[in-house]
Amino acid sequence: MQVYYDRDADVSLIKKKKVAVVGYGSQGHAHALNLRDSGVKDVVVALRQGSASINKAKAEKLKVMTSAEAAKWADVVMVLSPDEGQAALYNDHIRDNLKKGAALAFAHGLSIHFRLIEPRGDLDIFMVAPKGPGHTVRSEYQKGNGVPMLLAVAQDATGNAHDIGLAYASAIGGGRAGIIGTTFREECETDLFGEQSVLCGGLTSLIQSGYETLIEAGYAPEMAYFECVHEVKLIVDLIYEGGIANMRYSISNTAEYGDYASGPRIIDEGVKTRMKEILDDIQSGRFVSQWMSECAAGQPSFKAMRRRAAEHQIEEVGEKLRAMMPWIAENALVDKSKN
Ligand code: NAD
Ligand code: MG
Ligand code: MG
Repeated sequence: MQVYYDRDADVSLIKKKKVAVVGYGSQGHAHALNLRDSGVKDVVVALRQGSASINKAKAEKLKVMTSAEAAKWADVVMVLSPDEGQAALYNDHIRDNLKKGAALAFAHGLSIHFRLIEPRGDLDIFMVAPKGPGHTVRSEYQKGNGVPMLLAVAQDATGNAHDIGLAYASAIGGGRAGIIGTTFREECETDLFGEQSVLCGGLTSLIQSGYETLIEAGYAPEMAYFECVHEVKLIVDLIYEGGIANMRYSISNTAEYGDYASGPRIIDEGVKTRMKEILDDIQSGRFVSQWMSECAAGQPSFKAMRRRAAEHQIEEVGEKLRAMMPWIAENALVDKSKN
């Protein structure tokens, strides 16, 4: 595995380019602000007319254009709008406007790897994918640190795609932590698998099942919330700082024995069989085509699932209990009015 640091990057390669960042959401605000603070003078944020993000970008004194204007102006266009709209964005605003030999960049491999976008042959296509939420990409950069990032090149028309991508990753802070070389396929398939099986899908289903089991057995919702939701972070922090063994070192012997004795009864062989099915749906493209048809239909079941999940009792109880712990909000990374 190849790992690059700031010393391997020539940041001047990105400093002299006109860089357009499409979107000003989680990743967009972090890329645009970090690029500017690293000395990239020509940074523009591209947004749709009437977008709620326009005022947030302008409040940071960033210049805002439409995507078509930005594509005509830029040497590098980083696409940080939602994955599901990237193909339409490319076809309608970028393809016929981007200069010959310019670079089109992504923070996730989905649109290119699954051929939702078939880019013009004269363009450099690279990916800089931070291994962390955009709000952390920004907050760590401001502290002088960086989030590890992945770098991949899908098309190298100019011969400079890799070096420009490396310079970009370094300018947004990746070179302080490490920039790992990979491919669009590897980033995309492992990212989808991780978020579906473990991080987002697996974890939330596990939390919710534990919470419901305690509620159905007659325990107080507050108790169920503390045990099955709140304490997840305390345990994950220990795993995050020193691995699973570090967490087991810190918990009681009773907790550790229960971990070995009961964990495999919950997450048994059947889970791995189903994880392999999920991975197969991702690799074959079945997951992405299902998600794209859902989007083409206006996301009816996505929106219904989001609404049902938000109405779950677990959210109501959580809001009350978090109010007892004001430091949680004081240390929040997300401020919806600014980023
Ligand atoms: P987001 O939903 O937080 O923000 C999207 C932004 O794009 C918003 O400012 C929105 O107004 C704007 N937008 C929407 N449609 C647009 C259009 N047609 N034209 C121009 N602007 C448009 O998105 P995000 O979570 O930052 O994801 C952006 C990309 O980064 C995706 O490819 C995602 O997979 C990738 N990524 C995200 C994270 C993360 O931390 N959220 C981590 C790694 C990679
Ligand atoms: Mg993802
Ligand atoms: Mg306990």
